[in-house]
Amino acid sequence: MHASATARYDIVIVGTGAGGGTLASRMSKSGKRICLIERGGFLPRERENWDEKAVCVEGRYTARETWYDKDDKPSAPYTHYWVGGNTKVYGAALLRLREFDFGEVRHFGGVSPAWPISYADLEPYYTEAERLYSVHGERGLDPCEPPAGAPYPFPPVPHEPRIAELYDDLRALGHRPFPMALGVRLPNPQHPHAPYRLSSFDGYPDLTEVKADSHVVGVNPALARGNVTLLTGARAERILTDRSGSQATGVEVVRDDGDRMFIRGDVICVACGAINSAALFLRSASDRHPRGLANGSGLVGRNYMTHHNGLFIAVSNVSNPSQFQKTFGMTDFYQGADDSDLPLGTVQLMGRLDRASLGSLAKERMPGVPVERIATHSVDFFLTAQDLPDPENRVTLREDGSIKVAYRDTNAEAYRRLERKLMEVLDSVDRLHRRGGSSTYLTSRLGVSGVSHQNGTMRFGHDPRTSVLDTFCRTHELENLYVVDSSFFPSCGAVNPSLTIMANALRIGDHIIGRMSAGGSAHRRAAAGALR
Ligand SMILES: Cc1cc2nc3c(=O)[nH]c(=O)nc-3n(C[C@H](O)[C@H](O)[C@H](O)COP(=O)(O)OP(=O)(O)OC[C@H]3O[C@@H](n4cnc5c(N)ncnc54)[C@H](O)[C@@H]3O)c2cc1C
Repeated sequence: MHASATARYDIVIVGTGAGGGTLASRMSKSGKRICLIERGGFLPRERENWDEKAVCVEGRYTARETWYDKDDKPSAPYTHYWVGGNTKVYGAALLRLREFDFGEVRHFGGVSPAWPISYADLEPYYTEAERLYSVHGERGLDPCEPPAGAPYPFPPVPHEPRIAELYDDLRALGHRPFPMALGVRLPNPQHPHAPYRLSSFDGYPDLTEVKADSHVVGVNPALARGNVTLLTGARAERILTDRSGSQATGVEVVRDDGDRMFIRGDVICVACGAINSAALFLRSASDRHPRGLANGSGLVGRNYMTHHNGLFIAVSNVSNPSQFQKTFGMTDFYQGADDSDLPLGTVQLMGRLDRASLGSLAKERMPGVPVERIATHSVDFFLTAQDLPDPENRVTLREDGSIKVAYRDTNAEAYRRLERKLMEVLDSVDRLHRRGGSSTYLTSRLGVSGVSHQNGTMRFGHDPRTSVLDTFCRTHELENLYVVDSSFFPSCGAVNPSLTIMANALRIGDHIIGRMSAGGSAHRRAAAGALR
């Protein structure tokens, strides 16, 4: 291999998003020498961070890449390559999976498989992740929330008046909305003077760094400890192994200037996001791993899931001047509804939709109505129904090395019913107020480029024939290679994925450190063999 530079570390982490950034924060406390490899740079803090046109229309912070669908149709993936990964623009809704999501669950589209660990195994790490990411919320109101070891670290973000009114209406009608769990570092005794603006938040970078993202919360504190090196503009091209193929020896990296490096590590943790991590494993095929690294099962890249997500804009004659409306969610239909025995999903508010997207959504249903009028009289919801694993929904590489994501709906009936349920609920709110005419609903499902909730491409499990990773997210086939992003999900529930990725990263971090520090650690012995 031709590498202009080599360096050696105890631990190498590839990717700095929810998985990698959180893992870095945990591992850095061990004093081990750690290298973070990140293909992006630091997202610039600039005026355009909050500019609707720059962010939503021009895609200023979105990856400049082309991926292909099952029919080889190109599209630009809605993904973000920066220190902090997609959490730089995420909405920081940090919900736990439900306890029953860890078991087998029947859905309209099929069966959601059980996890090889239980909710109880992850619970302490959920509590810790909520602390790390300053989650604001209130327990006891979400009807299917799982048991928690501690209250939320901070009280909920207050509703603005229009949202408070809607929240009260829903409760008056017998529904059970709850304050959204949000990762924000609002002014508090530790940050008394933090300036902040939450209005451009969901889908936007945060100039004030009040949003608890993995750069601010994970990477920055890790770098401050002095034992962590960060390489930016450094794309992992391949993971290399020893001759036996049972040990990863390091990562081949291509820098933005074209320079190649080989970063050696005793332990390698991959956290590039479920699509890029699978692509990296496939790209790392070798004589010993002809179908892709750790791919004896043939499952690397398969069972890709992304949730059935969509926008639901309710336009009424009541004005909504809220700056930040993302303050409640509703799981009343998570396990079913009066007319559905099977699970539907989660309803939550989202940030205000940008004018350009709103205009194109409204073109057919509300011709001639000025977009400004719609924008000031709408409430924006985000709906999530569970996606189910299907081996044919998969990430592969095309001949030229570019990424192909084959995907077809698995559980669309649940999403359709969820949408209908929300319409019924909001119609009944209109009736409660005897409003003349009901609201107009503008709806849109996220398409194949909507990869923001990607997961499942290297599921974990007990059996190497039916899973890629073991229960600690270590590959079954390589002693010192871990995957610490959303790839490990065998099923994805119907809540936003980040808190689960973060909690799991803390769990895996503890496991790796424990293994490394156990006298005569297996990793060290393995690495010594690998590097001879
Ligand atoms: C607009 C938006 C809003 C969202 N809102 C929410 C929300 O409210 N709540 C929630 O839970 N989730 C939300 N999400 C989803 C959330 O951001 C992701 O689930 C989460 O960031 C995934 O974490 P990850 O570690 O798997 O991957 P990422 O965060 O994507 O991190 C992967 C990292 O790896 C890097 N990388 C990729 N390939 C390579 C390579 N070959 N070499 C080196 N580095 C590489 C990337 O640059 C990136 O930094 C949102 C996403 C978007 C886009």
